[in-house]
Amino acid sequence: MASKTRAAGTCAKCGNVFAVRQSDGGAIEPIGVRQCSCGGTSFEVLESAPADPYATTE
Ligand SMILES: [Zn+2]
Repeated sequence: MASKTRAAGTCAKCGNVFAVRQSDGGAIEPIGVRQCSCGGTSFEVLESAPADPYATTE
């Protein structure tokens, strides 16, 4: 699929919270901004989507 995963993420430097998206390649990009106001460009995902939708089916 070409759709990207949207999630909540934080700046790795200052902890600012952003809406981020994770590309298919795994890169995490903030939505709407190029970088954090602190200048940081590394982000960490707070909420990770289920890795495998088939893994758990109750
Ligand atoms: Zn920051």
